[in-house]
Amino acid sequence: MQVLSVTPEIFPLIKTGGLADVTGALPQALAGLGVGMRSLVPGYPVVMSALKKKAVHQYTALHGGKATLHTAEVAGLDLLVLDAPHLFDRPGGPYGDATGADWQDNWRRFAALGRVGADIAAGAVKDYKPDIVHAHDWQSAMTLAYMRYGEAAQVPSVMTVHNLAFQGQFGVNIFAGLGLPQQAMALDGVEYYGGVGFLKAGLQAAWAITTVSPTYAQEIRTPAFGMGLDGLINLRSPDLSGIVNGIDDDIWNPETDKHLAATYTAKSLKGRKANKRAIEERMTLDRDDGPIYCVVSRLTWQKGIDILASIIDPVIASGARLAILGSGDAGLEGALLAAAARHRGRVGVVIGYDEGLSHQLQGGADGILIPSRFEPCGLTQLYGLRYGCVPIVARTGGLADTVIDANEAAVTAGVATGFQFAPENAGDFHHAILRANALHADPAAWAAIQKQGMKSDVSWDRSAQKYAALYRKLLSKRDA
Ligand code: ADP
Repeated sequence: MQVLSVTPEIFPLIKTGGLADVTGALPQALAGLGVGMRSLVPGYPVVMSALKKKAVHQYTALHGGKATLHTAEVAGLDLLVLDAPHLFDRPGGPYGDATGADWQDNWRRFAALGRVGADIAAGAVKDYKPDIVHAHDWQSAMTLAYMRYGEAAQVPSVMTVHNLAFQGQFGVNIFAGLGLPQQAMALDGVEYYGGVGFLKAGLQAAWAITTVSPTYAQEIRTPAFGMGLDGLINLRSPDLSGIVNGIDDDIWNPETDKHLAATYTAKSLKGRKANKRAIEERMTLDRDDGPIYCVVSRLTWQKGIDILASIIDPVIASGARLAILGSGDAGLEGALLAAAARHRGRVGVVIGYDEGLSHQLQGGADGILIPSRFEPCGLTQLYGLRYGCVPIVARTGGLADTVIDANEAAVTAGVATGFQFAPENAGDFHHAILRANALHADPAAWAAIQKQGMKSDVSWDRSAQKYAALYRKLLSKRDA
């Protein structure tokens, strides 16, 4: 089976978020399951400079300029790269300039990506005809609209939503430039609240829709999480499912992790103590044996960091210490720094992005706090599970699906892996931390929950099997 993945990001070439981890890891995870995955990506400068390429298709005019489609292999990835200098050869990030401002012609750039994806689905590349097309997020979603109104309507397709907050909405004036038939400008086409919605168009056209956890798949059917698309998502709910992301267990392996002061396994958890001492040193925290809870996060409203800030005083009064790494909203950064100033030796805050420190925190802190308001999947709780850094999470999205709350029944049955609390509820969050404190005071009980978490299967294998099963289901639907 051959699947064409269309994506604006792919690890290790170009990454701004978890989407790149998924599109970078899936091809390898699927390879062992009889699924070949090729990935179509834009030819940004960082991508073009990494390639040994071979041209396989030319466009004399693709949305305002010449373009070439190349095949290339990088880091084990089988790529199709869209080299369209007028669209992608520019400095800055994949979606905007160095100041973070979006490129004004993003609609054109990602319409072009979609057009090319649909052309490939229809056979534009010699000796290559994908059985399935899999598009990721709004930047790839137009692939499915071009397929639907073009020659590849019979090719099954999957639309994966990594975060519904990003939808690619544009004014009605761009419609003429898309080159779609007039009939597409309709409620069941690309039209969205009087404009053009790229993600909306993909959700409408896809044979199947997935998101990155089963709970988020249910949540986005409600007005509170649906970001205006809940009506459409409800209509499509028979074709909607959630598949949790895996993690890269070579990079995130406490047995071999070079960022750690001491490596360890589930059998040698005492090794974590040296890592805890290293955190105390690095974050200027008092040295004691009480719990340290860490945070590794974008500091934003979505992540519920304001809720955390509101309970820091009672949490510190309970005897816990906090080690916080993140960056984001200036107001939230300020609130955390003020808490660190108020509680010297008890609250450590590092503002910035620090990959090494993020590993050290997972390897040495007792728990990780994740009070998100919504969380399509979440990765830091998965790292926490793998590292014996017990996750304390809001019961939402992927957090709800991957952490088993240490309620009495779960503790007795030996299946608990962390703590859950009601989202957006500061009182319940505080209570969850008090529950964690109490369990931490019993070293055997705490070690049991750590070990149970470390046994959780957070690998890509399980998720890849679910994607492969979905692809097979779509092929039988096509052939029915
Ligand atoms: P999101 O993609 O919504 O930010 P995820 O939990 O899915 O949230 O992924 C966040 C990723 O970014 C994780 O790999 C986490 O370790 C990493 N990360 C977040 N903030 C920082 C930071 N300040 N320093 C280092 N890594 C960070």
